[in-house]
Amino acid sequence: MDKELQRLHDDLDRARWTIIELLPEPVQGVLESFILCRSKDGLREWRYTAIARILELAEVSDGREMHDLPGCQRAYCPLCGRSAQSVVGSLGFAYPEGLDRHLNGRGNTIPCAVFQEVWALARAHLRNTNNVAKEHSLSEPVSEMHENPSADWVESLSATVAAASEFTGLGSVEWRYSPPCNNSWGCHLLEFAPALLEIVERGPEDGEVCYPILHNLDLVMVQSALDDVAALAFGIETDAGPCITLEGQLDGEEIVLRVYTQPFEDAEITDVMENGAMRPRE
Ligand SMILES: [Zn+2]
Repeated sequence: MDKELQRLHDDLDRARWTIIELLPEPVQGVLESFILCRSKDGLREWRYTAIARILELAEVSDGREMHDLPGCQRAYCPLCGRSAQSVVGSLGFAYPEGLDRHLNGRGNTIPCAVFQEVWALARAHLRNTNNVAKEHSLSEPVSEMHENPSADWVESLSATVAAASEFTGLGSVEWRYSPPCNNSWGCHLLEFAPALLEIVERGPEDGEVCYPILHNLDLVMVQSALDDVAALAFGIETDAGPCITLEGQLDGEEIVLRVYTQPFEDAEITDVMENGAMRPRE
């Protein structure tokens, strides 16, 4: 990276750290804890837990004190101190749903500018640690492509394929990397499969384990992530069901991408759907 650009990146990181340091102690501790994350999954989990913890740290007041109806609960955002835009002039956010939406930046509420900066800092921090691909590899450490010290290409290619996979309902993609010495293709092999999802809710479906159905794979998007595509095949694997295989090249290296429609045989439950909302499994 160009020196000037690197300096600007460092300045931005410092400014974001200052935002955290200006916050009260318990909140600060929650936000700083992202430095322990070593993977994207870990970071997603951190985000979920951090927001839950911030919600607990919010000072909750009765509606009467917040220009709202008595009996309802409201709280200012513990990070930015802001309130929801309210036509009747209520203070704070409806608690917990409104504040949760604000922190997550979901729905028709103002997203929390402080949490957005912290999240950007957390992602930048993870990118710098370069440990992501190692955790996803089957057993061998990730081989380095063109003496590239980081395995960023595995991560970015995986992110593209994951983004190109559309599922019916909620769900996520699990991916695995295996280096050329470790698979029968003799290529860099990246495999994708729907992740297992456990349902947590009152009723007959509680505890059921399912997975999302792949209903579309944007092949143009996948192909654009490779330098060259030599073959594209659709087949049925005896134990893994329908499967799409793409053989191609990236930076002169042979790469095989396989997208399965059924979870990996030894997949573990990674996601939980609780009352219609998805979260990583603790
Ligand atoms: Zn906020």
